[in-house]
Amino acid sequence: MPENCLWLPYTQMKTAGPPLRVVSAEGIYLITDDHRRIIDGISSWWTACHGHRHPHIVAALKQQLDRLDHVMLGGIEHPPARQLAERLANLLPGELNHVFFSDSGSVAVEIALKICKQYWLNQRMPEASRFVCFRYAYHGDTTGAMSVCDPVDSLHRRFRGFLLEQLPVDLPSNHEELQTFDRFLQRHRRSIAGVIIEPLVQAAAGMKFHSPGQLADLADCVRRNGLLLIADEIATGFGRTGTMFACQQAEVVPDVICLGKGLSGGALTLAATVATSSVFSKFCSDDPEDALQHGPTYMGNPLACAAANASLDLFEREPRLSQVRQLETWAREAWSDLDRYSAVREVRFRGAWAVVELDRELPVGSTSKAFVSEGVWLRPLRNTLYLAPPFVCTEAEWAHCTGAVRRFVAELSS
Ligand SMILES: *Cc1c(COP(=O)(O)O)cnc(C)c1O
Repeated sequence: MPENCLWLPYTQMKTAGPPLRVVSAEGIYLITDDHRRIIDGISSWWTACHGHRHPHIVAALKQQLDRLDHVMLGGIEHPPARQLAERLANLLPGELNHVFFSDSGSVAVEIALKICKQYWLNQRMPEASRFVCFRYAYHGDTTGAMSVCDPVDSLHRRFRGFLLEQLPVDLPSNHEELQTFDRFLQRHRRSIAGVIIEPLVQAAAGMKFHSPGQLADLADCVRRNGLLLIADEIATGFGRTGTMFACQQAEVVPDVICLGKGLSGGALTLAATVATSSVFSKFCSDDPEDALQHGPTYMGNPLACAAANASLDLFEREPRLSQVRQLETWAREAWSDLDRYSAVREVRFRGAWAVVELDRELPVGSTSKAFVSEGVWLRPLRNTLYLAPPFVCTEAEWAHCTGAVRRFVAELSS
């Protein structure tokens, strides 16, 4: 069997060293085949918000497995999916009431794009086809999602000619830029199907933050132009920015919201695209063709939905959101003077994200390896080092993570 039988994501398989061999996990710790316990400093790509194998989620999964493994959602429903849809509708702001499940974030974004496109098609406005998206955006790895990522700096820049052409712009950061954005929307209005944004934290393409005020102004401008707003909360949803959803900090209710990552508490792959009643109403008519033309095979998988329901129980029963705010406070204290190091350009905090932007790009393999030897798992994103731990991280464990980053940055600057 060739060594490279297992192909890893975003990895140059020729030169990358051996990956970390994880055989089990417990709470915030990953446990390797040679019995090392390493803190999962990025919650396995921001999924494991309650830590790994939380007993309540494990119990819910075992119970569900004894009842129903999987059933197609075409023409059939089952209690875990119905319950989860109702709970999400309850939890989400405004009239975001109609939940369409899928199995990964990228697909949830594809569905959001299709919902917007078909919203106009169903109203006989076929020319509304393109999406306004932003610099430093990341929305996934499938081709529709790739087309709305940052066209310059994104992981997908080599695919440019292959992708749908969208309308990428800078995120307006002041009154003047907002007016320019407004004029841009007015000019292209008839050809625009929607505007897509990662609210408050633009995560995978650079860990850039914007303020709730900026988001509110932008949403207002989109609304005034009669356009649809998609909030991609796959990274920010489920507490990571300090509120259940990032949009809530700006009192913004998008027309469509994408959820994923933390939705199942990190246990199983699950995503959802949720539309407002007003958007949904455009799909309800006497014409069968007006029905949403989408249906992933494993959508609404009962096990994944059971994990997500158990995860929502934990948000109700345990003080997750205050834990997130506590993590932010501790990080601000620990790194209050981090920007005095010469290699540091900026330090940013937002809930359970703590980001250090550096003056250079970091090699992924050797950087991760250096942190593993300190007992912390993280993966740099180009010129940023960031932590995004499970929310249940204790003060001592968090100090261990922030301390490891401080030592690394100090060495880089010396
Ligand atoms: C991770 C992510 C996606 C893609 O989700 P996958 O489950 O990896 O397909 C989309 N949008 C945002 C904002 C993300 O962070």
